[in-house]
Amino acid sequence: MKRTNKRKEAQDLGLTRYSTGKPCRRGHTAPRNTASGNCVTCASEKAKLRAAVPGVQERINANARKRRKQPEIAEQLAAHGKALRRKDPRYHMLVLAKRRAKRKGVYFELRLCDIVVPSHCPALGIPLFVGDGYSSQNSPTLDRYIPSMGYVPGNVGVISALANSIKQNATPEQIQAVAKWALTVWPEHLR
Ligand SMILES: [Zn+2]
Repeated sequence: MKRTNKRKEAQDLGLTRYSTGKPCRRGHTAPRNTASGNCVTCASEKAKLRAAVPGVQERINANARKRRKQPEIAEQLAAHGKALRRKDPRYHMLVLAKRRAKRKGVYFELRLCDIVVPSHCPALGIPLFVGDGYSSQNSPTLDRYIPSMGYVPGNVGVISALANSIKQNATPEQIQAVAKWALTVWPEHLR
């Protein structure tokens, strides 16, 4: 009973790990994975054993890839992903950010609990919500305040996809310059 509460607490706080203070079935006094409730030492030992057998990990990966390609499974996974994004958009943002960081060689040191999603975009004041299907201007997105500093707590905030696309890699002065120019070329009645 107590273990379930600890895990629930960790889920509510958005922590990926939690501690029960008690040893696992195999006697490790190690943290547990919030998602599975399993001991992290057990999980890593199991993974090592599995990977040590030649060809086994490759076969597991190949089977998983094949499974994900089956239309009904792909549909289920897409529906599950959508539900998860709506319930808590932080998971999706974290996964995408980690992928971007790896691709761009940017420093990444974020956890779920470092991301705070406000009700409205702090830059544009428009409501933030996860749309039905594709991302919209109102989708919450993770913004690095200073891009070169990477994804570290304190350097990220959640803003709308629209604000993020306006900001991109421009400096505040450049954004102001573009706005000033746009006002001169955009007829007032078309704004
Ligand atoms: Zn264990």
